Amino acid sequence: MATRSFPVLDPIDTDVVVVGAGPVGLFQVFELGLQEVRAQVVDSLPNAGGQCVELYADKPIYDIPALPVATGRELAEKLLKQIEPFGAGFHLDQQVSAVARRDDGRFDVATSTGTRFIAKAVVVAGGVGSFQPRRLKVDGLDRFRGTQLFEHAATLHEHAGKRVVIVGGTAAAVAAAIAAGEEGAAAAGSVTLVHRRDDFDADEATRARLNALRSSGRVEFVAGLPEAAVEAGGKLAALTVLGSDGDSRDVPLDALFVLLGWSPKLGPIADWGLALERKQVVVNTASFETSTPGIFAVGDVNTYPGKQKLIVCGFHEATLAAFAIGPAAPVHDDEHQAAQAARRRAVMHWTVMH
Ligand code: FAD
Repeated sequence: MATRSFPVLDPIDTDVVVVGAGPVGLFQVFELGLQEVRAQVVDSLPNAGGQCVELYADKPIYDIPALPVATGRELAEKLLKQIEPFGAGFHLDQQVSAVARRDDGRFDVATSTGTRFIAKAVVVAGGVGSFQPRRLKVDGLDRFRGTQLFEHAATLHEHAGKRVVIVGGTAAAVAAAIAAGEEGAAAAGSVTLVHRRDDFDADEATRARLNALRSSGRVEFVAGLPEAAVEAGGKLAALTVLGSDGDSRDVPLDALFVLLGWSPKLGPIADWGLALERKQVVVNTASFETSTPGIFAVGDVNTYPGKQKLIVCGFHEATLAAFAIGPAAPVHDDEHQAAQAARRRAVMHWTVMH
């Protein structure tokens, strides 16, 4: 399997590291911001929004106060807008792998790509865990991960004009086939969608768009199961697909997008010494602090009597956690104080304008 090495970076000094950029992690930044607490946010996905974006981007949500209806994606966008004034740092596409107490009482936090933080507190907003892509079990594919094999559609536009093969029947696979197949600067040279049957997780309008692209020849559909990787000159040249008719065929490619969905794994959070109950982090409901002082847990990742896995419940938890973490200790430094005052003014202005 290919290994990736990352540079050793200087640690980022911050008040709080928020683990997870789902809706609750995002709102946590807002509540911390009101307390003048600086935050850095890390997520293993390449975009913010957690389940709302990855699992139901286009599904309407009706139970957010004062927001009669918003899709998962719209809610994430609104939360990102709401936290803009606080200037939190975002570190996406990397998993928080280690959290350890330092001698000075703060925490060392490290990610899978080498980003390091020194933080006074950590808020775990990890939801159902890190989303890990469901992998295609075909020998020889792994070594092309990141060069020709991708498990998220975020980099699709980089393959304009190339031969793109997409595997999967998920909403993300269909959306990628449409994005690559439609005319425009990001259009692929050719698009082949491979799925075991001609049935996709997509609403009627999306299916109609896909069918139009299939009829016009912009997207080719192949029903079958990928069974082998074909290499030529050190590159991934084609995917061998066993068709539903029993015949195998090679589908030539430059880039392979495997979009089979996500499986959540609590992952490294389980190794940070926090008390757990059925793979959920146990918290004190007065502060949402975990069994380790200074580490808090909010949103779907935690458990307590009466817990409901709902976004509004997570918002309440984030609010109490921010109060428990409290305002950052004053720093007697003119530049810092001017920045704090500017941030306060931005929030006041923003609150009046919206
Ligand atoms: P998540 O949204 O799960 O986000 C957690 C984030 O943490 C993820 O992005 C993950 O990648 C990241 N993460 C985890 N571990 C790490 C790590 N070690 N390092 C870095 N990142 C990490 N709720 C409602 O209130 N109303 C609804 O209508 C509604 N509809 C839903 C429909 C569906 C189909 C589903 C599946 C859920 C629905 N929910 C709804 C539930 C709601 O989506 C969750 O309660 C909410 O997403 C929880 O937010 P969260 O921020 O705690 O976690």
